[in-house]
Amino acid sequence: MQTNILNLQNKLPLTCSRTGNCCFGKIIYLNPWEVFHLAKEKKLTSREFRDSYSDFGGIRLKFDGKKGYKDQQACSQYTANFGCSVHLGRPLACRLYPLGRQLQSEQVHYMYQGDEFPCLEPCPDVVNLEHLNIGDYLSGQMTEAFEKAQDAYLDLMQNIADLAFELLLDTGLAESGDKQTLALWRKMGAELPEVLAERIGQEWLDCLMIPDISEKDPIAFVSKHNNLILSKAQEIFGTLQSHQELHEASVLIMSIALHLARGLGANPKELSEFWVDIAKNNGAQE
Ligand code: SF4
Ligand code: SF4
Repeated sequence: MQTNILNLQNKLPLTCSRTGNCCFGKIIYLNPWEVFHLAKEKKLTSREFRDSYSDFGGIRLKFDGKKGYKDQQACSQYTANFGCSVHLGRPLACRLYPLGRQLQSEQVHYMYQGDEFPCLEPCPDVVNLEHLNIGDYLSGQMTEAFEKAQDAYLDLMQNIADLAFELLLDTGLAESGDKQTLALWRKMGAELPEVLAERIGQEWLDCLMIPDISEKDPIAFVSKHNNLILSKAQEIFGTLQSHQELHEASVLIMSIALHLARGLGANPKELSEFWVDIAKNNGAQE
């Protein structure tokens, strides 16, 4: 599908006609900051929101509402004749829609996919509404804090993966001739999200998706989350000795990094292959 890269001055039909048609049949992944804000807007705890309205331990918003546009199911947060029930806490993907966003080599790109502007088919009337430039649209949607959280979680994902590398490369496990660890890293990249969630287990899933943190600043929120995850790992894995224990710990930590990656919209299969190659270049075997 064609990707149209935009700049902040581009003017597009970005005034929403409010039919709600784009709240049907979508896949919306979530990071822990977004779960926290959705829950707050719903006046629920993060745990209650996660358990009722998301899949795979919190990384995907449920779309199990009544069927509507094109016979597709509505988002779990969509209320007929009203719209989004969590408007102020809606995730980044909904704030950006119909735009997408990508961070590459520290550069942010906004874009839309397809030959024609995505709103034109579900809501042809948008062409008659005010056209906005991308910069003004993003300000109006208050994306900034959510973009910061998303980028900080990408760093946290890498920090978690780094820990899996340390458990493999810096403990003597790779030098022992271990081949199972990288084989499992690769396998996990291709696993279904429900399988990966099962592999991670409830305790770590809770730590990953519903941390007990209530910082208003996204960077402070993710920084606390980073410390929480890394100190929990240190506490549990700091004293491991046997190669089998180190192997299991490296696999578990990598499964958490890959699950978070999916919640951030990354491709776990490509990432796992990338990380396996790096580990092999540093002496690990598969
Ligand atoms: S498809 Fe576009 S115009 Fe239609 S409801 Fe969604 S954002 Fe608004
Ligand atoms: S969270 Fe709100 S805006 Fe996003 S898809 Fe659901 S109902 Fe629509």
